Amino acid sequence: MFASIKTTINKLLNLGFDDEFDNDLNQKHVVNFSYMMFCASSLFMLVVFATRSMYAVAFFSSLGLLIGLAGLRYNYIGHFSRAQWLMPVTKIAQVTILSVFYFGTGSGFHWFFLNVISYAFVVFRADQRAHKYWLVCASLALFLMCELLETRGMLLTAVDKSISISLVFFLVAINFALMISLVMSRLKSVNHHLRTLAEKDELTGLSNRRKVLADAVNIFADSVINSESCVFSIVDLDHFKKINDTYGHEAGDLVLTKVAAVMADVIRPQDEIGRYGGEEFIVIMRDTSLSDAESVMEKMRQAVEAMLIETDHGIVIPVTVSIGLAAIDSHVSRYEEILAQADKGLYAAKRNGRNQLSVQSEYQY
Ligand code: GH3
Ligand code: MG
Ligand code: MG
Repeated sequence: MFASIKTTINKLLNLGFDDEFDNDLNQKHVVNFSYMMFCASSLFMLVVFATRSMYAVAFFSSLGLLIGLAGLRYNYIGHFSRAQWLMPVTKIAQVTILSVFYFGTGSGFHWFFLNVISYAFVVFRADQRAHKYWLVCASLALFLMCELLETRGMLLTAVDKSISISLVFFLVAINFALMISLVMSRLKSVNHHLRTLAEKDELTGLSNRRKVLADAVNIFADSVINSESCVFSIVDLDHFKKINDTYGHEAGDLVLTKVAAVMADVIRPQDEIGRYGGEEFIVIMRDTSLSDAESVMEKMRQAVEAMLIETDHGIVIPVTVSIGLAAIDSHVSRYEEILAQADKGLYAAKRNGRNQLSVQSEYQY
């Protein structure tokens, strides 16, 4: 029940968005959120005033409800700027009319102008500064006018007035709090998305060089602290330049993508893999003996050799990899030294005829 309410609210918040990480997402979310609040408050007022036979306000509230739904629809069909404007204009009109002509300024209703001001600050981008300041100035001017005018309430008793003031303050505060939490949660998820992008290799979808080297530092440090075995491996595609020269760069990219997917499939869940650069990859195997690492990497070599990569023209591209391995050693103090040893292993594998593994250090933990 609670989960389905949450899903519905999320659906409404995301109404009209194609790209979940769009630049304007914070603004769009807040616009949808404001319409949802507006619809809910209009519905609440409609029920309250209809049951108290105050039909003029009830009618006015039903108009508000219709406008709120129209705003959500504008966002849904992609008319974002219309939706963006309709909300504050409607809200200003509603708050002014209700404050001045119905409840009187003593009801505290004009404090809802604060919601328009916070909306204007969040929803309009830097290049819409003029719109933002117009709205802020108009809301402030009307707020001051209501404060100074002190019109008498036509419809509210003294008890109604004190209930109204408390309710208005409560709703203004809730609106602020929800808007802030909405923006914060959007920023958090956008940050997470940006971090993922910054750590991913665009072509292969594996971790990029920055991420895999950061993993290498951490895993190396953990292994040394815990006196655990750990193996670093460098994998390099054989004669990849020839693949590019023979079948074209696009086919080369296809080979890289497919080989990367197979390699990611072969490694165990605890292993890390990333693109070191060009056609070279790093595999880090924590808490693994050299012989276990050798069998994982041999499996990888065989899986790549067995691949059937076909170009658009139906030509099968043969592909193999050479692999260098090095285990963490009690004399080694920096991860770069293990990587350099794995690199030596790789060159030995290349020298010995490619499509093979070569181990460079002895496992000592
Ligand atoms: P070896 O067996 O000795 O490793 O020979 P190789 O041809 O694989 O190695 P070399 O370093 O001579 O060539 C690597 C080639 O990889 C050169 C470069 O153009 C190509 N390359 C690097 N990154 C990419 C990429 O993202 N896409 C494509 N298609 N080619 C790439
Ligand atoms: Mg190569
Ligand atoms: Mg290379």
